[in-house]
Amino acid sequence: MPDSANAKYHFASDNTSGICPEAWQAFDEANRGFHPSYGDDEITRQACESFRSFFEADCDVYFVFNGTAANSLSLATLCQSYHSVIAGDLSHCETDECGAPEFFSNGSKLLLAKTQHGRLDPADVQRLITSRTDLHFPKPRGLTLSQSTELGTTYQPAQLKELTSLAHQHGLRVHMDGARFFNALAALDCAPADITWRAGIDVLCCGGTKLGMAVTEAVVFFDRALGQEFAWRCKQAGQLCSKMRFISAQWLRMLGDDVWRRHATHGNALARRLAAGLSALPGAEILYPVDANAVFAKLPETIKEALKAKGWRFYSFIGGGSRFMCSWAVTEQDVDALIADAAAAAA
Ligand SMILES: *Cc1c(COP(=O)(O)O)cnc(C)c1O
Repeated sequence: MPDSANAKYHFASDNTSGICPEAWQAFDEANRGFHPSYGDDEITRQACESFRSFFEADCDVYFVFNGTAANSLSLATLCQSYHSVIAGDLSHCETDECGAPEFFSNGSKLLLAKTQHGRLDPADVQRLITSRTDLHFPKPRGLTLSQSTELGTTYQPAQLKELTSLAHQHGLRVHMDGARFFNALAALDCAPADITWRAGIDVLCCGGTKLGMAVTEAVVFFDRALGQEFAWRCKQAGQLCSKMRFISAQWLRMLGDDVWRRHATHGNALARRLAAGLSALPGAEILYPVDANAVFAKLPETIKEALKAKGWRFYSFIGGGSRFMCSWAVTEQDVDALIADAAAAAA
């Protein structure tokens, strides 16, 4: 589709931004000399070690290129083809992965649970787990939830525990889609372990790209038995990077020195600033709590049209409103410029 020359993609997604300076520098530093390939190098070993310190756990770590691969390959470790995975009705793995979770699991069905502000409704999860136990229905064996959610909210540790205990009681394993894990972690101000394995998460897809890195997500198995043959799955799916050190070097840098925290906190703070500005406009309404780096707003048509005419690009097909994402690269000036354009239209 042709686009106007003045198009501004700052808030359209957190992956319209570039690569953050730290990841870029790590990439450059990895570009020296010769190293073993396919992850058999020292930088990759260090990066995996740094994940283990970060999570205070003896976890097993793999790097893949994107979130769809991370989610669908890790979900496939939970299931046989005749099993099912319970997912939120708005979850990325249901709405935006082109059937990859079903494809890579050879047919495990996704069962959709109701969500409240993006969070799984435990009562509906319970209903899905217990409603059918006969052999004509795919047996629930996995539960997936997103942290932060597709609507920019987060789960508190206790909310996670409620869902994971329910799942574990019935023999299901729990997967966390953490495409925006670091935004949630920065917002919740707790230890990484508190919203993962200590809260009952068995496997985490830990998002690098939206945080500001280049082409990488980490799959972290807290239950190492689940990850036993994961390397083969990755290779077969075309997700094994031969020059792995370029990916590992970025992770090493982002996990060290709290670089992740700076970028995630920045995005979250700008989302709150944007929400405050938009909510002051006549007829505008913020639809969900702004826990992380997303703002969903119901805006009068006049404001939406004016923003589009000024070049601002944003999605209107998720969550029943206009979505604005704040990445590491968006500035206070960008936020204020968007608010000023919206205010001018409202006046
Ligand atoms: C962006 C995103 C992903 C990853 O998507 P890819 O385009 O496959 O990298 C996964 N889950 C959620 C919730 C996302 O927003």
